Amino acid sequence: MVWGVRTSSAEDLKRRKRLGDTFARLLGRENVLWHPAEVMVYDCDGFTIEKHPPEVVVFPRSTEEVVGVVRTANQLGLRILARGAGTGLAGGATPRGGEVLVVLTRMNRILEIDPENRLAVVEPGVLNTQLARALEGTGFHFAPDPSSQTASTLGGNAATNAGGPHTLKYGVTVNHVVGVEAVLADGTVIEQGPVCHPGELDLLGLLVGSEGTLGVITKLWLRLTPNPQSYRTFRAVFRDLHSASEAISEIIAAGIVPAAMEVMDQGILAAVEEAFHFGFPPDAGAVVVIELDGFESAVAKEARQVLDICSKWGATEILEAKDEQERQKLWKCRKMAVAAVGRLSPSYCIQDGVVPRTRLPEIIGRIQEVSTKYQVRIVNVAHAGDGNIHPIFLFDERQPDEVERVLAAGREILKHCLSLGGSITAEHGVGIEKLPMMPQQFAPQDLEAMRRIRRAWDPEGHLAPEKVLPNS
Ligand SMILES: Cc1cc2nc3c(=O)[nH]c(=O)nc-3n(C[C@H](O)[C@H](O)[C@H](O)COP(=O)(O)OP(=O)(O)OC[C@H]3O[C@@H](n4cnc5c(N)ncnc54)[C@H](O)[C@@H]3O)c2cc1C
Repeated sequence: MVWGVRTSSAEDLKRRKRLGDTFARLLGRENVLWHPAEVMVYDCDGFTIEKHPPEVVVFPRSTEEVVGVVRTANQLGLRILARGAGTGLAGGATPRGGEVLVVLTRMNRILEIDPENRLAVVEPGVLNTQLARALEGTGFHFAPDPSSQTASTLGGNAATNAGGPHTLKYGVTVNHVVGVEAVLADGTVIEQGPVCHPGELDLLGLLVGSEGTLGVITKLWLRLTPNPQSYRTFRAVFRDLHSASEAISEIIAAGIVPAAMEVMDQGILAAVEEAFHFGFPPDAGAVVVIELDGFESAVAKEARQVLDICSKWGATEILEAKDEQERQKLWKCRKMAVAAVGRLSPSYCIQDGVVPRTRLPEIIGRIQEVSTKYQVRIVNVAHAGDGNIHPIFLFDERQPDEVERVLAAGREILKHCLSLGGSITAEHGVGIEKLPMMPQQFAPQDLEAMRRIRRAWDPEGHLAPEKVLPNS
């Protein structure tokens, strides 16, 4: 019996090595991982509740190499999953088992920056902040700024249609991608945009946000946004999350669209304070970071309104960043928030839903009820101006009972989002995690329409198997 296991494991190793050799002939040995100990590192993304190692991991460096990988995988009957930095939070980059994992991080060149035409052309593995740094001094920036921007790739941002603090005013990634090159399931290379031909179907809109189910993105043409003339950035401290969310709701109802409006609750503030010492008052129940941008006179008027509304809802302290250094510090305290969560529990899971902005105070109340009902500790960060919520469940993944309660609590919060007129995902995508919730959000005929589109692009189901759509 023992010998049998040893033999089969040795055979499995041989088989994997042969597979590795096949892809190494295409890409070079240094761009292929096949040993179980190495591929195990890629068994999940930021959604750590479900894990499956891929069969083999490849790091192509060009579109031609991606084509080669796709064609070889097809010949070998292996399914294909694209991966950027693996910061996704819904299991989109988590294999189901047996896939060739195509990691795009070595296609990381900025090919062109063209301020005159407000365009940047990049490979998919370029990090979001890599582009931000390259644009410094040009007078332009790339507006989508997910809080993971120091790690996540622009290909991953496009594939998930990522949001971020500043997409409240400027729109999410799909509004900033004007063209895409992608390798389809059969190895065909297509280009959508950047030039739009009258009468052409908007396939670009299908590809952005398709979570790797329609093609592997190999090049992106991105829209650049002019830097605003001025900023005013505030940090308002509230006694509790409820009054903070009422203030946020009223700011939006007053017709103000801040560049960003982010909230953190007491639970996460304590961890952030312990980790980074930003100087939050110890009794802070919630902090809202609000940034206004645009022409100086308009921003000044909006700032007065925002301050009035925050005072009306009982803000106990409002600080304004006096210079760029202070502004960056305020943003750091928001963008490093999740990094501090590791101090609170051995494992965490970041949920992602959205409600109409006016329902924010209600969903915050329901999250607190769900926390009590399932005895799961929940802390909150949110791109609150958009109505996005990110309750963070704190647990220990070694305790199966805790994992079950986290999953049940997550489903219940998403059901509340739906009942308040929202959606089961705000910006992290469907991946694996939201798959069981899709029939709750979409009618069977809507799901079938999406399935048909997917089959038209990928009849054999080679790409991102068992992701996004149930029974796909
Ligand atoms: C601390 C933290 C903060 C975050 N903040 C935000 C936030 O503010 N806003 C937000 O929207 N998300 C946020 N996220 C989630 C995540 O960072 C985003 O979804 C991001 O866009 C994923 O990029 P990635 O390169 O890590 O992609 P991955 O996680 O590797 O992949 C994500 C999905 O895209 C597909 N994919 C990746 N690259 C390609 C490609 N080239 N072609 C086709 N498909 C591809 C994958 O198959 C998968 O389905 C956060 C995550 C963390 C850990």
